[in-house]
Amino acid sequence: MFTRIVLIGPPGSGKGTQTERLCKEFGFAHISTGDLLREAVRTGTPLGIEAKRFMDAGDLVPDELVIELVKLKLDRCPEGFVLDGFPRTIEQAKTLQDICMIDVAINLEVNEEDIVGRMINRRSCRKCGAVYNLRFKPPKNGDVCDKCGGELYQRSDDVEETVRARMKVYKERTFPLISFYDSRGILLNIEARGGIDEIYKKIVEKIKSS
Ligand code: AMP
Repeated sequence: MFTRIVLIGPPGSGKGTQTERLCKEFGFAHISTGDLLREAVRTGTPLGIEAKRFMDAGDLVPDELVIELVKLKLDRCPEGFVLDGFPRTIEQAKTLQDICMIDVAINLEVNEEDIVGRMINRRSCRKCGAVYNLRFKPPKNGDVCDKCGGELYQRSDDVEETVRARMKVYKERTFPLISFYDSRGILLNIEARGGIDEIYKKIVEKIKSS
């Protein structure tokens, strides 16, 4: 079974949600560069201060900053992890190759308009980071987190204008990763339409059967 996994796909394709479930079921470590960056912004580290303006603009944070964060996490290339939102550029993918051998890159395929709809309906918990969707996975009580009671908010990069900007960045800089991993024979495409459970089942089937 694959244990060192990279999850790629456009912003809003459900990488975070699916990674969370995989990690819960199989005990993998969840490494999300988006979460690591938001934490750095929240605590006001120098890296966070620099990263914030790129994130707010829907742009990618420069490779060297993100790579610094990931290197700390993958120090000795642990067994069993899912990288969620990393790599996002060919440069990052090449660096990752030098740090750690990846077993599989799962590519979540979704259509752009579905994504925009998903992202502008996304709400996140300020306290524990749990993610909801007003259409597909609504919280039980308005803007309150089911898990911890924290306040739910819309991330500044989930407003429509920024979502469109992020899609453009995705096409230009992240999309080429699909051929990068395909040419290395470790790409698995998953058609990410339908509900969260259905997509999760497809991912698990592929991971287990490989
Ligand atoms: P995410 O939560 O994965 O959607 O990431 C939120 C934002 O963090 C992105 O729009 C980027 O600005 C930044 N970010 C996250 N991961 C990366 C990465 N691997 N490379 C560059 N920027 C990143």
